[in-house]
Amino acid sequence: MVDTPTADSPAEPDITHINPASEKTWFGHPRQLARLFTTEMWERFGYYGMRALLTLYLANYFLFSDRTTNGLYGGFTALVYLTPLVGGLLADRYLGSKRSVKFGAIIMSLGYLTLSIGAGLGQEAKPFATMEGTRYEVVVDKASPTKQQYLVDGASRLAIKGQEDGTVQLVAADGSIAKTVAKGVLEFDGERNPLFTMILLVGLSMVTMGNGFFKPNISTMVGSLYAQGDRRRDAGFTIFYMGINLGSLFSQLLCPFLQEAVGWWAGFGLAAAGMLFSWALIQFDGGRLDGYGEPPAGQPDRSMIIYIGALVAVPVILFLFNNLMNAPAPVEGAGFIPYLVALPLMGKLLFGTFLIGIPAILIWSAMVGTKTELQMMLAAMVLIVFNVFFWTLFEQAGSSLTLFADRNTDLSVFGWFTITAGQTQFFNAFFIVALAPVMSILWTSMAKNGIEPTIPVKFSIALAGVGLGFLFLVWGSQFADAGFKVGIWWLAGLYLIHSVAELCISPVGLSMITKLSIARIVGMMMGVWFLSISCAQYVAGVVAQFASVETVGGQVTNPAVALQTYVAVFWNIGLIAIGAGLVLFLLSFPLKYWMHGVK
Ligand code: GLN
Repeated sequence: MVDTPTADSPAEPDITHINPASEKTWFGHPRQLARLFTTEMWERFGYYGMRALLTLYLANYFLFSDRTTNGLYGGFTALVYLTPLVGGLLADRYLGSKRSVKFGAIIMSLGYLTLSIGAGLGQEAKPFATMEGTRYEVVVDKASPTKQQYLVDGASRLAIKGQEDGTVQLVAADGSIAKTVAKGVLEFDGERNPLFTMILLVGLSMVTMGNGFFKPNISTMVGSLYAQGDRRRDAGFTIFYMGINLGSLFSQLLCPFLQEAVGWWAGFGLAAAGMLFSWALIQFDGGRLDGYGEPPAGQPDRSMIIYIGALVAVPVILFLFNNLMNAPAPVEGAGFIPYLVALPLMGKLLFGTFLIGIPAILIWSAMVGTKTELQMMLAAMVLIVFNVFFWTLFEQAGSSLTLFADRNTDLSVFGWFTITAGQTQFFNAFFIVALAPVMSILWTSMAKNGIEPTIPVKFSIALAGVGLGFLFLVWGSQFADAGFKVGIWWLAGLYLIHSVAELCISPVGLSMITKLSIARIVGMMMGVWFLSISCAQYVAGVVAQFASVETVGGQVTNPAVALQTYVAVFWNIGLIAIGAGLVLFLLSFPLKYWMHGVK
């Protein structure tokens, strides 16, 4: 966002004439931005292309239950945002940003390649059911419009029909009910080859590791293009944010397309190819980035140790994933302490760090800082906590909303053609690309008139927005068709509202941290910001688990129950988000005072 001078924040000096990076410019920005833009664009092409496939891959190919699928997805994305803490630190101390980005790019492409190879060599899990100790084969008639599932009982095939009360009817070919099974008696699962499950988890571990080296450091490099006080910095980050979403937009359309047309391996393969291209762009930069993101001077070269250490850490992440997948379901009504104790290691690690870290940093600030500094740090922490709320709900996109798209959305576009469930993720990126310039202009013109909302108010709009998006979809759900499918435009509407909300919080957040933090610990505060997004991803998985529905062979047993379940969860989180937005709006008054003029 472009900073506009106002009465209480005087214009920063225009120093573009002394900024060496601006000798030759790209849209008025240092020309290096172009290379960082394309490198990040292709990296996000890989990441979001993979993300458009992942949940459906887990649920429909590996046939994991919704609980496992959403839990694993949440754990994976949590680690994707946690590793940047270490990756950023190692780059600052030893590697330098550029080498970190190159290393991260290689590891991430290998991660996507591993996913692709696993999908190419492996076989789709085979659905089965167990009832009173006996195992039955299950077949899914993929050609039928409802993708009817059948339980094979000796010579007869019984259609599996989930009922609204949770019982399951087994219906014979002549339409007679062969058996009604009480809730929970019939258990569905998939038979998976453990080797390929392992390959999947290794691939995901590599992606989290690579992202830790790549993501924070490419952003640092963008920051380093601008001298202190260069007014183009915020606009530069907005352009960069457009690159992120431009990359994801195309891959969210193409990877699911390839998956459908060719196979899962091809979808993941395209993500790997995009990531490799990103690596090539930064590796062979033709000297364009010389002098940027170099390792700190006077430090011994520790790169080999770090590279080996990162590879050795991959099995550690693998262990965390296994621990997560084997965690028992929480006992309902057992209380908070037993819930915490039963949390998988990853959950304990994330919440522990967050819950201890925030008060500890505040106590430290009270001891070393002035009253003003403490107040600014307090304001930052309050906003960081609300940031967790935002991303928890926003990040339903990759999990519960994609499963909703798969099961309860009519994916036909004006009856002309249909898109796939994974492709619905593209709406967010599309709206960001379309709206980022509009919002940028809006904030600038509001600022000129002295009515630009303060940062806490922008955050509260974002929270209320994310809630409204869900309520919009809930409203649309009453117009579902006879197959309990809601029109795609309701989902598109949700993404439109969510994207406006994202633009109120995401590009604003990072620069806000740099301004509110006590200078000495700004790096750590950036880490806390990423940590808050990481916790959010984890909780997002837990929230998505609430929206779990029963499936057989990747198909829901009762679409009516599925729709009811989704609507109930979306309604609740919609209301909670609006409530949180209101609370933050009220808090924005003291916060404005605590922020001491930071905009
Ligand atoms: N879509 C943005 C990105 O991938 C922001 C995501 C986030 O910060 N949670 O960079």
